[in-house]
Amino acid sequence: MAGEPQADCLFCKIAAGEVPATVVRESETTVAFRDINPQAPTHVLVIPKAHYPDAASLSAAEPGIAADVLREAGEVAAGEQVDGNGYRIVFNTGAGAGQTVFHAHAHVLGGRGLQWPPG
Ligand code: 5GP
Repeated sequence: MAGEPQADCLFCKIAAGEVPATVVRESETTVAFRDINPQAPTHVLVIPKAHYPDAASLSAAEPGIAADVLREAGEVAAGEQVDGNGYRIVFNTGAGAGQTVFHAHAHVLGGRGLQWPPG
């Protein structure tokens, strides 16, 4: 069923506490944890606890949870004190755009200058 945990999904396992992660925030519907391969001084992933493969399918099925992810991303930036100098929220969507884990997630990147356009 849509949103149900998937046995072969890494981020479902992190959400369930079955795979360890450095969790920085948690809400009823989301978990935020540090990326294992950080690309900036602050690099935190915000995921919905429910399983949707990408941001588009999440927002189509559960717009309230998609909003929760965005709000939590902003709270992460404030908590990491990267909001003053600017930060980036990224949803890689599809393998061609660099998505490697097919459970919706927002990257929160900050703490250094960020170039535009991204690579
Ligand atoms: P994507 O490439 O799908 O947009 O982002 C997936 C992110 O998950 C990558 O930045 C990658 O470093 C991170 N990642 C992959 N495996 C793990 C893991 O086991 N733990 C954590 N904390 N991050 C992971």
